[in-house]
Amino acid sequence: MVEWQTRQTQNLLSARMCGFKSHCRQTFLGLLAQVDTAPRRTRKGRTMESVRQWHEHSLASAAVTALKGNGFKALYAPSAEDAIAALKPFFTAGARVGFGGSMSVAALDIRALAAGANCTILDHNAPGLSSEAKLDTLRAQLSCDLFISSVNAVTLDGQLVNVDGTGNRVAALSFGPKATVVIAGLNKLVRDVDEAFERIELYAAPMNNKRLDRPNPCVKTGYCMDCELETRICRVYQILRKRPSLSDFTVILVGQDLGF
Ligand code: SF4
Repeated sequence: MVEWQTRQTQNLLSARMCGFKSHCRQTFLGLLAQVDTAPRRTRKGRTMESVRQWHEHSLASAAVTALKGNGFKALYAPSAEDAIAALKPFFTAGARVGFGGSMSVAALDIRALAAGANCTILDHNAPGLSSEAKLDTLRAQLSCDLFISSVNAVTLDGQLVNVDGTGNRVAALSFGPKATVVIAGLNKLVRDVDEAFERIELYAAPMNNKRLDRPNPCVKTGYCMDCELETRICRVYQILRKRPSLSDFTVILVGQDLGF
């Protein structure tokens, strides 16, 4: 719509200025194009992008401070590149690295990063695994050197909230791995635990059901119906109110949408 209006405005001006010398008309249209492509500004002269960044940074800072208060190591990575840079020191050659089946981890291609650092990858979703090998991998993740996962929600008061089907992810996030890193996009930031479960029921669980092609009612409605089916994927509910006492636990909040 904006492009169409811009084109119409230029056509109109071209027609009205047909008496102008060619270079005057081109200069005027050049100025008009600059105006049309300039970043939109608020009345105080701020760009919408700068306001958005301020808001994200403010919420992320509050969550990072609260996470630290709950015993987690925590940092804010404004971009995917910053998140990758923060992750790199965790990968040492020969380390056994487990992954929690996360779309956020997949979006950042963290497996490739670990493989490039000569880590041993424990990926239960690796293609070609037999069901027995998959189970062995899930068990091995519980005692790996580094476990990397996302969560379903991070609260502004520094809690991590998850709903799992198998429970492997919540188990590893509670105890076992020598070090744990959680990666979460700001789309997972919510006010409190109540809002975290609302987010899970409205977005995360139905979208994961759709992704996994599960025949559960949320795939039809788009929101949780609290089903009683054997195929239900929401089975283990976890709130990490504080850092699990024997864990080395880092949370990286990333300034973009990641996963569901
Ligand atoms: S409880 Fe059932 S309906 Fe609700 S999100 Fe989970 S699988 Fe879907």
